[in-house]
Amino acid sequence: MRSKISTTSHEPKPETPTQRYQPKNPLKSPRFGDVATFNRLPYVPDFRDQDIDVVLLGIPFDGGTTYRPGARFAPRAVREASALNRNFNPNLGVHVYEKLSVVDGGDVSVNPIHLQTTFKNIEEHISEVHRAGARCISIGGDHSVLLPDLRAIHKRYGAVTLIQFDAHTDTADSAWGEKYHHGTPIRRAIEEGLLVGSKIFQIGIRGPLTAASQEDYIREQGIHVLDIDQFYEIQKRNEFLDQIRKTAGQGPCYLTFDVDGVDPAYAPGTGTPVVGGMTSFEAIQTVRKLQGLRFVGANVVEISPTYDHAEITSLLGAALIFEFLSLMAHESKSPVV
Ligand code: MN
Ligand code: MN
Repeated sequence: MRSKISTTSHEPKPETPTQRYQPKNPLKSPRFGDVATFNRLPYVPDFRDQDIDVVLLGIPFDGGTTYRPGARFAPRAVREASALNRNFNPNLGVHVYEKLSVVDGGDVSVNPIHLQTTFKNIEEHISEVHRAGARCISIGGDHSVLLPDLRAIHKRYGAVTLIQFDAHTDTADSAWGEKYHHGTPIRRAIEEGLLVGSKIFQIGIRGPLTAASQEDYIREQGIHVLDIDQFYEIQKRNEFLDQIRKTAGQGPCYLTFDVDGVDPAYAPGTGTPVVGGMTSFEAIQTVRKLQGLRFVGANVVEISPTYDHAEITSLLGAALIFEFLSLMAHESKSPVV
């Protein structure tokens, strides 16, 4: 990673990328006005040669959903909801945009009725972000979009440690004879050699299964699961987080957040809700505890604005993006290998 110019001095300095790319000043342009972008950041679809650290990308695709659709509308809804995102994270003590230059890179070009074309476009677009020397945080989209993202990530960083918030393990084999949908990305990623089970950590898993044998694959692959009962045993939760830190070390990590990991009371706008989950506060608090890890990518998926009320779920998505950026900015305070 590149070292950043210090922002603690008061001397005038030439414009740096972090100064060039700032959220719009709300006192000059009110938060409810203008064209919506993620966190009111500049829209920079051509991010090459711009010395940008993080590109936020929308992936408006829900062709991999098996129940309620609507996640294709999430990037727009989250852009709207993120108008209230601010700059400084008091919990991590970090000013995101003093540490990182971040832009809204627009949306991946999807084909709403062709999954493989969409996957190809996602992988290519995220690879472009990587070639520009930046990291990508994407806003899905259903969870099927994780697979092409991981293909791009693997090309750049090899096998990462994956941390997944979800009610589901997403390790199904197929549905209606189809191998690719939002219930299979983890299994496909393991089969393609993009992930190894021992470096996958799933948090918030719960709910009935079709058959007991659905858990066999998880065990065979050595995937670590902190189910919702264990999540509420604080000692087990802390041990799980310790295990993540131990496994990941300073190696690359990817954070994938399926909003149905959160209870539908706190995230009603989603396609495959499962009652009895964590609150939005507990989710955010747990994400913050991942500080110190080296995140090379992240996504928020499965927000379906069609089923949302009062922007509850979109606001959560927007808050999560800010927390992910904060984790990346927090790490940039110290030299990153
Ligand atoms: Mn899920
Ligand atoms: Mn999922």
